[in-house]
Amino acid sequence: MSAFIDARTVPDGTVLEPDLAIVGGGPAGISIALALANTPLRVVLLESGDMSFDPATQALYSGNKTGVKYLGLEASRMRFLGGSTNIWGGWSRPMDKIDFEERSWMPHSGWPFGLEALQPHYARAQTLCEAGPWLYEQAEHWSQSEMPTVPLGAGGVATRWFQFSKMRGSLLPTHFGERYADDLKKVRNLTTYLHANVTRLGLAFNGGQIERLDVATLSGRHFALKPKAVILAAGAVEIARLLLASNDVAPAGVGNANDVVGRYFADHPIPRDIGTLILFDGKLAPYYLNTQTTHGAILRAGLFPSEGYRRSKAMLDSSITIESKTLLDALGKTTVATTAAALGVDAGKATAFTLGGGCEVTPDPDCRITLDSARDALGMPRVKLQMKLSDSDLAHFRATLKELGRQLLAARAGMIRLNMKERGQWLTGLDWGNHHMGTARAHVDPKKGVVDANLQVHGVANLFVAGSAVYPTYGAVNPTLSIVAMALRLADHVKGLLK
Ligand SMILES: Cc1cc2nc3c(=O)[nH]c(=O)nc-3n(C[C@H](O)[C@H](O)[C@H](O)COP(=O)(O)OP(=O)(O)OC[C@H]3O[C@@H](n4cnc5c(N)ncnc54)[C@H](O)[C@@H]3O)c2cc1C
Repeated sequence: MSAFIDARTVPDGTVLEPDLAIVGGGPAGISIALALANTPLRVVLLESGDMSFDPATQALYSGNKTGVKYLGLEASRMRFLGGSTNIWGGWSRPMDKIDFEERSWMPHSGWPFGLEALQPHYARAQTLCEAGPWLYEQAEHWSQSEMPTVPLGAGGVATRWFQFSKMRGSLLPTHFGERYADDLKKVRNLTTYLHANVTRLGLAFNGGQIERLDVATLSGRHFALKPKAVILAAGAVEIARLLLASNDVAPAGVGNANDVVGRYFADHPIPRDIGTLILFDGKLAPYYLNTQTTHGAILRAGLFPSEGYRRSKAMLDSSITIESKTLLDALGKTTVATTAAALGVDAGKATAFTLGGGCEVTPDPDCRITLDSARDALGMPRVKLQMKLSDSDLAHFRATLKELGRQLLAARAGMIRLNMKERGQWLTGLDWGNHHMGTARAHVDPKKGVVDANLQVHGVANLFVAGSAVYPTYGAVNPTLSIVAMALRLADHVKGLLK
């Protein structure tokens, strides 16, 4: 087993010449490194952090932000081996077919590949995420006697399932660094450097390829790589920062001839206490409120708009979760009693639950990462985030909640009271998924995207991007399972190119 190398021990001026350099050891970078094990490729994985949190390294992530209230950029991601999976929640679900499609009602939509491109890789991704057997579709067909679901009349919303990552021998979700460190050390064609911060992508003078990566440590060491190919797997914010800051040959930055790098940044808004669900008979299966271990997996049920509903009603995606029991106020109790009486239903055992969830947002070129004038301890420009959230995206979520209410009434099973009307109400207590997406979006047209269908930066033959930076649209589900599937697809592509 070969140890990881501490980049602080690498002599100044060293130049390494691997076949492939992977920048960033989060789930994307680690999955690629493992997928290329035992190939003829000589692979180097460069990770900024160590095996655990270090405040000085984490501080390299801080930046400025304006616009809608958003998380601190140094707090919404983690800069050590395993990346943000060191603090993730483990919620997992694959994307839907519609997520990849060009949709007339969603500007800038349409991926350069479809769900079928990820399908061959999802099973391995599910294993790497340690999210149990693949039950997502099967669970939708479990019988009511086995797994009772909230009764809903015909309509656009249905119960679907999240699965959860769980690290072997731990109660926590899989921390990719801790979980796969020994596996990485066993890979003979891989060398992993910790404390290795890539600070510059050295573009060849013709602009057509990366010929050098500059690496710096916080202890003051500097060395370089001259790899045949490079995969950026440093997370969506840092990928934009590296591309934009590497502006010595191309003044706008690498891959940014068309001013797309850093634009279309997105996260999933998670508004709190969006409404109250009332079930007249008070019966709610426990897997709606908390995770349950069943069928060999950890699952939780949520309420999702169907693909058919999203298409027919030109609707954005969302996921509705049932959070906790709550008490109704006097007006609420009267409304429930009146509604139940009108439906001819006994509401003597009616029980109320708070609703939460998350929603898809429309790609917005002005929601973006740019460079700040301030610099970090390594001399790199810090980032600036302009965060936005549109009223119409929130209105879509509200419409889906109303649809759920309509279906509950149609089934004479319950009703919904909506809490959110105005923007201020949505923004109060608004949280975010910590799902950074979209700064190096994929599109066949270099004017509209940074990478192509193979995740190669347009015009730069040996530079690729892994992670949710490439998402042109975002769906509503948590991204890591799909990030890993996409990383495995990219590993296959690069293996083919370099063999
Ligand atoms: C609080 C929280 C909860 C979350 N919960 C969920 C969830 O339940 N489900 C879900 O699917 N997702 C969740 N996520 C998101 C998930 O963690 C990310 O989608 C995922 O980690 C992204 O993987 P990545 O490999 O692309 O990037 P990252 O995880 O960000 O990894 C990037 C790596 O690159 C390294 N790096 C950065 N810059 C450089 C550089 N210049 N040189 C060298 N190395 C560098 C970093 O140290 C890091 O290790 C959550 C995130 C947070 C913060």
